Amino acid sequence: SMSAKPRDEDIEDEYAGEVAVHPETHRPTYVWDTMKNRSSTGYRVVTPVCPDTPKPEGAVRFVCISDTHNQAARLIQTLPAGDVLIHAGDFTNTGRPSEVKRFNEFLDHTRFVCISDTFSRTSHMAKIPEGDILIHAGNFSNIGLPREVVAFNEFLGHLPHRHKIVIAGNHEVTFDRQLMTEQNSHVFMSFATALQEVKQEDWKHIPALLTNCTYLEDAEVNIMGFRIYGSPWQPEFCDWAFNLQRGQPLLDKWNLIPAGIDVLVTHGPPLGHGDLTTSKERAGCVELLTTVQRRVKPKYHIFGHIHEGYGVTTDNKTTFINASICTVNYSPSNKPIVFDLPTPKIP
Ligand code: 5GP
Ligand code: MN
Ligand code: MN
Ligand code: MN
Repeated sequence: SMSAKPRDEDIEDEYAGEVAVHPETHRPTYVWDTMKNRSSTGYRVVTPVCPDTPKPEGAVRFVCISDTHNQAARLIQTLPAGDVLIHAGDFTNTGRPSEVKRFNEFLDHTRFVCISDTFSRTSHMAKIPEGDILIHAGNFSNIGLPREVVAFNEFLGHLPHRHKIVIAGNHEVTFDRQLMTEQNSHVFMSFATALQEVKQEDWKHIPALLTNCTYLEDAEVNIMGFRIYGSPWQPEFCDWAFNLQRGQPLLDKWNLIPAGIDVLVTHGPPLGHGDLTTSKERAGCVELLTTVQRRVKPKYHIFGHIHEGYGVTTDNKTTFINASICTVNYSPSNKPIVFDLPTPKIP
């Protein structure tokens, strides 16, 4: 209304038990000016919880967003983990079916967290983001000793992810059955001192110490509707475990990968993606790249091994993730790499 200044009693009505229409309700700026300095009104800015802060035990974490206007997908990588997501409206521009469908796909995603080449340095690495599926692409120990595997398994047990996928790398020497069987070979001899505490009958049981994950060795697992395949082999280098000659011997292993895998996990990189060494050599496997691009066509390919190749690349069809946590100097300072996929509809 255009009436004159309100009487003090009108304003005091705001604080009465009964809520009534304020006489100056159409002049909100004016009303706030009359209210704002009263101690009973209350106003101060609050710093929100930093999303990196660990959730207190027993708490439920709410993540709040609003006004995404068809652009929610851009948030996927940066949206903090939490238990309850709240969207306070304007998720489309006009509410058309295609817009609603797009927003609904954003809501229904699975978060993958990728790490590799942690060796036994997990206690020194950055905090691992929460997610649905954790992938470790090999080299979780220095040489695959039982106590190293037990420590890694305990580390996995403390992580919140519903599913954990692990493959071996060239450092999981005790997991390589051929290497461990041929104890007269020069390769085995080179590890004999380091492995002397592992009794002859014990090494076969070491992979079974990994009770807190799904260990994949040339095998596929279907998790939450995703087809995930893991393989430890890499081109031979310095006589370590799961080494094979470039060419046909490695291609024979890659030929075991079924077409249509969603997430491929290998210890070594393919040629050209995350494979550039400090000496500017490409260490990736040519036939692994060919297999990925021409036959398997996974959405994501996760690997490690060439620490200095850490990072994410794409050929516009597959996203390649070198998730090496350790740098070339074995400092566990690279961050885990996260990606999200729409959760498959299981019929
Ligand atoms: P790891 O011992 O963890 O398997 O490998 C550590 C480092 O050794 C890598 O970051 C890379 O610098 C080097 N390396 C491993 N494999 C190869 C390879 O096939 N070729 C070259 N040039 N370097 C490699
Ligand atoms: Mn809006
Ligand atoms: Mn999720
Ligand atoms: Mn390696």
